[in-house]
Amino acid sequence: MTVWSILGQPRALGQLQRALCSARLASTWIFHGPMGTGKYRTALAFAKCQLCSNPVRRPNRGDATVASLPDDFVLTEPCNECPSCKACDAQVHPDLHLINRQLGGVYDRGGRSRLTTLGIDIIRGEMIGDDSPDHRVESKLYKHSQLGRGKWFIIDEADLMQPVAQNALLKALEEPPPLTYIVMCTGSPGDLLSTIRSRSQQAAFSPLPTPVIIEYLSREGFSTQDAGLLARISENSLGRIASWRPPDPSAVSRKKTAKVPTDGQMLEILNRLTHAMDHLLMGQAGAGDLAVVINEGAEIIAGIFISHDPSASKDRSTRDGGILMFGLIEVWLSDRLRAVVGSPVEFALPSTVGGIEWARVKPCLDISAAAAAQLDANVHQPTAIMNACVSIEAVIRGAV
Ligand SMILES: [Zn+2]
Repeated sequence: MTVWSILGQPRALGQLQRALCSARLASTWIFHGPMGTGKYRTALAFAKCQLCSNPVRRPNRGDATVASLPDDFVLTEPCNECPSCKACDAQVHPDLHLINRQLGGVYDRGGRSRLTTLGIDIIRGEMIGDDSPDHRVESKLYKHSQLGRGKWFIIDEADLMQPVAQNALLKALEEPPPLTYIVMCTGSPGDLLSTIRSRSQQAAFSPLPTPVIIEYLSREGFSTQDAGLLARISENSLGRIASWRPPDPSAVSRKKTAKVPTDGQMLEILNRLTHAMDHLLMGQAGAGDLAVVINEGAEIIAGIFISHDPSASKDRSTRDGGILMFGLIEVWLSDRLRAVVGSPVEFALPSTVGGIEWARVKPCLDISAAAAAQLDANVHQPTAIMNACVSIEAVIRGAV
């Protein structure tokens, strides 16, 4: 068992382990860093440690260590056995409050929410309460901890808090109730009010090095080449890679409505797209063939996303799938350009064609980015994809 099983974050883990040993744990934290670097998982483990009724203390030696701490440092880990640890694992602990944008569905009475923000209703309902006479909501922040070891509030994607929600939360941060801890996870700390940032302890999470991702995925049965490719197209985000793989089996059994994807589907999509782009370049296939591959890939990716979150919108997930497909086209273009300039990339796509010069790569990148923006803006998806494919074909074949 590693220290909280978080990969590649010795600095943040060291900081948090030191905090757990200190006499007075800071009440407000910001965990910031790129997507998929373990911020949310670390926040859960941090809370679990503090809520555990029988935490384990052991020296920083053996196979599970924190590289940034001396070997005589005493690590704190949850026991994983007590009722509190089990409740944390099942995410049903009465003193562990998880706040995310999916809660928008609970608070959106009109049913129109795209679940893309954390509005004031969520922050009032889940944290600070509301004392307006016609809409009274009890404050979870000011209630006593039910099991007596403090209360934890973990806000995922905290930068999605609307300004009014941030201002409301700020008031609570000015005088936090005793034994109350708030962890805000964010990839964009600059989107939080400077007054929130200045009241919070900050822990920085770094992008994971490619070898760390390869080692992790190799243990899961991926070849080095496949693992390296996934690291590359995910921009070294294990969280993003996890969202492309089947969900945890324990999560699936709770969500029987979703069709379970198979592992490696993203690599199959990548292969098909690479071949379609290769054939387009060689004149062996047309824009229509590429559009079919993009549409089918978007559908499959949407299915994977929905298997993780059955409440997700099918339309939105398919759009996100389409946006991802155009992102993969940009990777293929980047490989072609690198072949021209004689700087091949490690973990290139499995393409069999040569290079393309910048004069043709640049307009294709622009077309791809514009198509992704159209999908994001709810333009009719098949039309946007077909138009982009026709334009890319014309540029790549040198017709324009
Ligand atoms: Zn425990």
